[in-house]
Amino acid sequence: MKIEHDVGLGRFTTLGAGGAARAFARPSTVEEVAEALVWAREREIPVATIGLGSNLLVADEGVEALVLKLGGALAAAEVRGDLLVAGGGAPNAVCLHRARAAGLGGFEFACAIPGTTGGGVWMNAGAYGSDWSQVLERALVVDDSAARWLTPAELGLSYRRSALRHGQVVARTEFRLAPKPQDEIKAKVTELQALRKAAQPTNKRTFGSVFKNPEHELTAGRMLEACGLRGFMSGGAQISPKHANFIENADEARSADAVALIAEARRRAREQFGVVLEPEVQLLGAIEIPPVE
Ligand SMILES: Cc1cc2nc3c(=O)[nH]c(=O)nc-3n(C[C@H](O)[C@H](O)[C@H](O)COP(=O)(O)OP(=O)(O)OC[C@H]3O[C@@H](n4cnc5c(N)ncnc54)[C@H](O)[C@@H]3O)c2cc1C
Repeated sequence: MKIEHDVGLGRFTTLGAGGAARAFARPSTVEEVAEALVWAREREIPVATIGLGSNLLVADEGVEALVLKLGGALAAAEVRGDLLVAGGGAPNAVCLHRARAAGLGGFEFACAIPGTTGGGVWMNAGAYGSDWSQVLERALVVDDSAARWLTPAELGLSYRRSALRHGQVVARTEFRLAPKPQDEIKAKVTELQALRKAAQPTNKRTFGSVFKNPEHELTAGRMLEACGLRGFMSGGAQISPKHANFIENADEARSADAVALIAEARRRAREQFGVVLEPEVQLLGAIEIPPVE
């Protein structure tokens, strides 16, 4: 497997920002993942895996790590009985397509989540009352010592988080689905996509929800809207005029521009509501959200 050097990661993120990975590889089998992990361990280089970069802010200065992007068989999906069997790099859209073609329902909620199954495990991705923990049967997690199948409980899945750490690669996933007529699946997806389009920016470069929803009567979006932040800009990044819990790449944004908006949003939410918002977006490289005073 080829190891490349200084590969720009911006094009692998939905925001379209961020610097280069010191080392980069695209393993397409579990053996290649293990090989890449050994390569990094021998050189004492940390490892991180990216999916479709749809919840990711990459440091503008780049990432001092071996970054893996799963490809080939690890980005494919198929149905076996009632199981959807997918590589950790398989896009959710491909999985949903396979499930629908086989007449299996339960994965429709993921139509609104533009990531991979592995990224979904890391995030316990979810929407419309469902999430990975409810449909995931098990995931094959590879680190530099072993490959283990883990259940949702062993993965520590809870609201938009798991217990996974960089260096642990979700190489394969299996989802338990249930028979459902194809036209019902299609109708559900159409309904959810229309809801999404009405509420959120769908034709802009964003990384999804910036903050997790706090334990408060207001969602993060409503709170930031009340702080007057809709449309607020820093450099080339803008808080979405449509939904204040999204940041858009308005004009060649840098990740630092997004971080500045995140810091300002947290400052105002703290000041106005006494709430410290917790970022949902994941950070890669030397990039930090300043603490709220
Ligand atoms: C328009 C839009 C709408 C969105 N709506 C939703 C929504 O409704 N619900 C929701 O939950 N999310 C939503 N998101 C966020 C995002 O799509 C999800 O969090 C998704 O699960 C991230 O998957 P990814 O493959 O893109 O992961 P990335 O963004 O590439 O990575 C996210 C994290 O997972 C880790 N990771 C990725 N793949 C692996 C792997 N194979 N093994 C180990 N670690 C891995 C990365 O290191 C990183 O820490 C939205 C994003 C956008 C742009």
